[in-house]
Amino acid sequence: VVEYVNPSFTAITQYSTEEVQGHHLAELPALENLSELLFDSPSSLAMGNSWQGEFKSRRKNLEPYWGQLSISKVYGDNRELTHYIGIYEDVTQSKMAQQRIERLAYTDNLTNLGNRPAFIRKLDERFARDSENPLCLLLVDIDNFKRINDSLGHHTGDKLLVSLARRLRNSLSANGVLARFASNEFAVLLDETSLEDGQSVAQQLLRTLDKPMFVDNQLINVTASVGLSCAPLHGSDPTTLMKNAGLALHKAKANGKHQVQVFTEVLNAEASYKLFVENNLRRALTQNELEVFYQPKLCLRSGRLLGLEALLRWNHPERGMIRPDQFISVAEETGLIIPIGKWVVRQSCRMSQQLQQAGMGCLHVAINLSPKQFSDPDLVASIGTILKEEGLPAHLLELELTEGLLLEATEDTHRQLDELKALGLTLAMDDFGTGYSSLSYLKKFPIDIIKIDRSFINEIPDNQDDMEITSAVVAMAHNLKLKVVAEGIETPEQLAFLRRHRCDVGQGYLFDRPIPGRELEEKLKRYPRGPMA
Ligand code: C2E
Ligand code: CA
Ligand code: CA
Repeated sequence: VVEYVNPSFTAITQYSTEEVQGHHLAELPALENLSELLFDSPSSLAMGNSWQGEFKSRRKNLEPYWGQLSISKVYGDNRELTHYIGIYEDVTQSKMAQQRIERLAYTDNLTNLGNRPAFIRKLDERFARDSENPLCLLLVDIDNFKRINDSLGHHTGDKLLVSLARRLRNSLSANGVLARFASNEFAVLLDETSLEDGQSVAQQLLRTLDKPMFVDNQLINVTASVGLSCAPLHGSDPTTLMKNAGLALHKAKANGKHQVQVFTEVLNAEASYKLFVENNLRRALTQNELEVFYQPKLCLRSGRLLGLEALLRWNHPERGMIRPDQFISVAEETGLIIPIGKWVVRQSCRMSQQLQQAGMGCLHVAINLSPKQFSDPDLVASIGTILKEEGLPAHLLELELTEGLLLEATEDTHRQLDELKALGLTLAMDDFGTGYSSLSYLKKFPIDIIKIDRSFINEIPDNQDDMEITSAVVAMAHNLKLKVVAEGIETPEQLAFLRRHRCDVGQGYLFDRPIPGRELEEKLKRYPRGPMA
């Protein structure tokens, strides 16, 4: 029964002393909930001498407020309980500020979706509640978003993201959790959803996003890639599930984007292999584990040896010889391709010189350049320096370029190619026929040679289309004054076909496999000599 309240009590609750004095605590709307909290629950006040805590109640005008209360028991002379004395404070402001901070911390302020921490909290809660029923986790990444942002400006890019978020939200059922993880990455949690159902939701999302968007008075087409993992099949804790969805997304991107990939164990193996390469490749360069093999290139008219293609190998102390397909992409990602590429240039120049000194004539040496190497501002100068230091005439060095490089060529790339050409180097287009493959396009660049891809040569004489393409490419290239190299010649029939169609240069297992440097002199002896210097 309330005996006394001070004026602050009235200020907080809007009830006057008269309105509360003499009333039982449980009857007082001013302290709604409190009585229950203190006496009905197994609270410390029943057990101990005091209680401290927060409670939510209403002022007289029904406005809700938060109170912070500490209450103690008061005993009389004979140790009998006579009173309770409570001190309390209106903490509504700080409580609301806290809630706002929480909301800010867990919301993406562009799209108003939950952010990564919010999503992870939901995922954690779900696993704590239920670890048996299936659930699907989708990571949705907008393809080439950086390009969209760069070309249309960040302002439009932001609006596009808001529209995308709305579209994603609308295409999900109400219990699907959607969050924005990073600039162009969204995450979806589908509770109680099997792998099959998750896949069909993912496909549906792709289709939804495929439809053009109208933003800032223009139609914008976007596509997305999705990585999917399903619990408990692909992981029974949030961390594993997230990691695996991430690997699946990475795979979807690497496979050409605009698709759904489901996690498989193979992706784990790939990821740990990649980690192995990352951790070991730097050492490979300094510990002399890298080696250059050389594959002969012959004049198809005369059968003379014209030159060699330098092909990189990694001789790992435990794993043995590793082919470049297994590590070049990691070298590109980590930037290690730049020092490695320079090393290959130097080795190859030395080898050409060494063979000449051994009386093998002037042999061209061709080097594969990764597009990534063109991001090195020092590329042209470093090649020039190496040629000078090794004393190799520039016309003996050939650079094999990928189509991707020309397709994505910036002004800068163009200039570098012109400069390389001006140094006197020969430029070749590698793997011709596998990509965009327009001869007229090639003419925009100072290219001298095209190499028809192995995949066309491979099926000669069984595949009529490949034969027609090959002979047409040779004829057209000759019209454009380009030389043609055929790679991957394995049979005498292939050789005969290529000679008949006047392909200039050939390379392949029929003549030789790539040869380790130290065996080269010996192995090359059986070829008719190249032209003397
Ligand atoms: P590429 O430039 O297309 O090289 C030709 C590949 O075909 C080489 O594989 C070669 O060993 C193989 N080959 C040659 N003749 C035949 C044949 O008759 N039949 C078959 N089946 N294959 C043949 P390799 O050495 O494994 O190299 C693979 C790729 O790695 C190369 O493809 C090239 O793109 C890249 N690469 C190699 N060395 C370097 C390098 O130093 N730097 C860079 N950036 N890339 C390199
Ligand atoms: Ca090549
Ligand atoms: Ca090739």
